[in-house]
Amino acid sequence: MLYDLHVHTTASDGVETPEQVIVKAAQMGLAGLAITDHDTVDGLKPALQFIQANGINIDFIPGIELNTDFGADEVHILGYFIDHHDKQLINSLMDIRIQRYQRAEKMVAKLQAIGLGISFEQVQKLAQGDIIGRPHIARALQQAGYVLSEEEAFQKYIDRGKPGYVPRYKFSPDQAIALIKQAGGISILAHPGLIKEFGKINKLIAMGVEGLEVYYPEHHPDQVIEFARLAEQHHLLMSGGSDFHGSGSSESRNQLGFAGIDKDMMERIWEYHRAKPQNIFR
Ligand code: AMP
Ligand code: FE
Ligand code: FE
Ligand code: ZN
Repeated sequence: MLYDLHVHTTASDGVETPEQVIVKAAQMGLAGLAITDHDTVDGLKPALQFIQANGINIDFIPGIELNTDFGADEVHILGYFIDHHDKQLINSLMDIRIQRYQRAEKMVAKLQAIGLGISFEQVQKLAQGDIIGRPHIARALQQAGYVLSEEEAFQKYIDRGKPGYVPRYKFSPDQAIALIKQAGGISILAHPGLIKEFGKINKLIAMGVEGLEVYYPEHHPDQVIEFARLAEQHHLLMSGGSDFHGSGSSESRNQLGFAGIDKDMMERIWEYHRAKPQNIFR
């Protein structure tokens, strides 16, 4: 019984549609999954409708992943059971979406200026939905033959400090935690193992994250033990997921169900969720 609680779709930078992801999850026999697209809830409604219309037997957890800046580290906060109709959430996400769009235009201009022949239209087309991220630019560079992989595109052109990079506006971690909370969700610190400065994890716990993503493809077994201990020590929930972005994406993110949690851990998340006041998914 595996619950994969970290999955991307075409609503953000995943390659497969919400419907395709649900089909794949059902075929694999996953007990449940959370769709957690970057900065958008657009994938949730189609996923829910598809599950209902086809009577698919899978536990679906509506989610989101908010990318935030915490000093020099990029910190991602997952939100589970968010109310995707929440006005304030939708408004804040709209701001991020506009900023992302403008930033992608600037990045394409910078890449063109160093002689790379990609167009903004091509990037937009690859993005499909309304969220444009660096992975879409990476795919455009790959399609045009300038790089062999998305990873190479990041390394050569679009990572922080590379010639095509343009920063974008992001929430701070406490803003993201607050936004998830007021939309009725549970906040979970995504892939803590990717945070370079360990002390920051304790700071994020102090800011009020309610759980840690203990199980993650890039977490070393020692890190899993360490984060499980940390979660226990601070009475936090434990989560896990594959960070699936589609079967053609980079190695650590191309396998749905590669990481997740078991039924007992999922029960604890549900219990915690049910115990919260004013709960629309009760
Ligand atoms: P953005 O939010 O538009 O700045 O893009 C960040 C996203 O790019 C992350 O959430 C990852 O999905 C992806 N990403 C970041 N670094 C890399 C990398 N080195 N290789 C492949 N994908 C990456
Ligand atoms: Fe991503
Ligand atoms: Fe992430
Ligand atoms: Zn993710």
